[in-house]
Amino acid sequence: MSDSCSETVRLMKLAIDQANLAMDALEVPVGCVIVHDGKVVSSGRNRTTETRNATRHAEMEAVDVLLEQWQKNGLSMSEVAEKFSNCTLYVTCEPCIMCASALSILGSEVPLGKGFKCTGGIMASEAVLLLRTFYEQGNPNGWFVLSLTIYLELFSLSVILYFYNFS
Ligand SMILES: [Zn+2]
Repeated sequence: MSDSCSETVRLMKLAIDQANLAMDALEVPVGCVIVHDGKVVSSGRNRTTETRNATRHAEMEAVDVLLEQWQKNGLSMSEVAEKFSNCTLYVTCEPCIMCASALSILGSEVPLGKGFKCTGGIMASEAVLLLRTFYEQGNPNGWFVLSLTIYLELFSLSVILYFYNFS
């Protein structure tokens, strides 16, 4: 395995760790990490049930941590956008239309940016197993919250691992 390949697998495993934390909290098991300059700078897991907010997907959680931190450090919007353009997001499920749109906006606000590149299928079986296990356990939460979450998370019906490179 090449260095970059094993590094990708290492980061995917960290995203899966986040998905496992979500599963332990009876949330749809989706997790992600954001990497900047080779370092994990943020992570997130699905918290839609805990927050009673259907938009609190793993990607939004991780992005908000960074936005808050960078704005607190006094970075301007263009500096934040430039930093995002150098980030890579590793997530255990193909982003829903809401998250994909948000990620696209973050990537494309950089003057030289061209949206984001995307690679799928890495460690897909592990991520699929997590989701299958979760849904086979039955419905631990209210029908409405869960069905809305399923709709948003599985919008594309394609459950595979993805990582995004914003540059
Ligand atoms: Zn989403």
